[in-house]
Amino acid sequence: MMSGLGQHSSFSTCLFGRQSRGSVCLQATKRAASQTTGRRGSTHVAVKDQPKPAQDLSVVSTVPRPRGVTDGPWDAQDVKAVEEAQQSETSRPGRRQVGQPGALLAQTIQELRKLAEQDGQPAYRGKQLHDGLMKGAQSLDDFSNLPKAWREKMAERGVSPGRSHLLKTVTALDGTRKFLLRLHDDRVVEAVGIPSEEQGKSRLTVCVSSQVGCPMRCTFCATGKGGFARNLAAHEIVDQVMTAQEQFSHRVSNVVFMGMGEPLLNLPNVLKSVAWLNQDLGIGARHMTISTVGVPNAIAKLAQQQLQVTLAVSLHAPDQALRQQLVPSAKAYPLQALMEDSRQFFRATGRRVTFEYTLMAGVNDSTVQAEALAKLLRQYDLCSHVNLIPWNPVDESDFQRPSRNAARAFHSVLQQRGIPCSIRITRGLEAAAACGQLRNDHQKTPMSQLAVV
Ligand code: SF4
Repeated sequence: MMSGLGQHSSFSTCLFGRQSRGSVCLQATKRAASQTTGRRGSTHVAVKDQPKPAQDLSVVSTVPRPRGVTDGPWDAQDVKAVEEAQQSETSRPGRRQVGQPGALLAQTIQELRKLAEQDGQPAYRGKQLHDGLMKGAQSLDDFSNLPKAWREKMAERGVSPGRSHLLKTVTALDGTRKFLLRLHDDRVVEAVGIPSEEQGKSRLTVCVSSQVGCPMRCTFCATGKGGFARNLAAHEIVDQVMTAQEQFSHRVSNVVFMGMGEPLLNLPNVLKSVAWLNQDLGIGARHMTISTVGVPNAIAKLAQQQLQVTLAVSLHAPDQALRQQLVPSAKAYPLQALMEDSRQFFRATGRRVTFEYTLMAGVNDSTVQAEALAKLLRQYDLCSHVNLIPWNPVDESDFQRPSRNAARAFHSVLQQRGIPCSIRITRGLEAAAACGQLRNDHQKTPMSQLAVV
């Protein structure tokens, strides 16, 4: 039933080369933009009734599915695509290079000191490099306190800050901003900044992408409808956070790996970025969340790191049969194994696992299914928080948003069974906390509703 249903949207279909009703191309919005502000081509626009234009592939990266990968059950082609994704990393010798060679961002002070010394410079120059990066250096010219001859030498061998090009900023009426970033190889990813107030403190949460595309094919996800291009390097993940911090002129307090991609398929680069964000940018590990639909053996590897990050598991179904329809990769990683690994993560780290559950009318929102979910969580002694996310219907999706009563009834059953839970119905991250859902939620926002800032 679920096969082939995706959360298409006007924004995503243009950006990633898939067409849908009423799509609006970024190129057209760029041409139509009447206001241009900020750095690196940042454009803030309001768009009304734009005609559907032709795509400009010189800017817009498409991520087609590999030949042979189709909707439906998980098969050998999918397994191959996932294996390739796990091998697409920088950290192993001989693997395909991802990211910008010579990028300075996401390197530690120690690594930058070593780089300086290797170039015959005093070690403190490494600290100066680090300071410049923290101040938002976009090119080597921005390190004006460094010797010009050294900068030229670094430029000659391709060293650069490693910042991406900010293609566009779109701001929703609630202040949430989406950033579209063009990478060095013209791939495009997005990050979302979500400002909020909590107990009198202003927070800024950034939802980051970890891959260009995603090979997991979740049926409710626009990213999953396309293919997989490559993993993001650590500096490309960090760049998303830096961009949000600069654009909001506000310190980032929380980072969630809930954008494009399955973070646990890109674990080495995700871990490197987490370490840098924690140690260099000062974001507490407990304020970072890694979301997953489940990758065999990856949760155990994450647990071995003994990090204080939050693991958010996207369940969406209380039983294997239904979950496999919604998340085809569950065929290769059955629900019972996922739950057991989640339990082991809790035991190894002492960090409670949270669970994301997108409620879809008539699919997974009955009280019987709520009972089954409670039973499942209790069986594994994982009575930790459940985020219930009512589905937000979009064009070309056969899923339906659950009624308010159905969501409340589901919530009540969990509460009565002693499972802490909340219904996320508002904005930004809270409106779409499941892996990939955040991106889709913002993508579905009609461009005509976006404000000029
Ligand atoms: S929901 Fe997450 S894991 Fe699934 S296809 Fe989308 S981005 Fe990939």
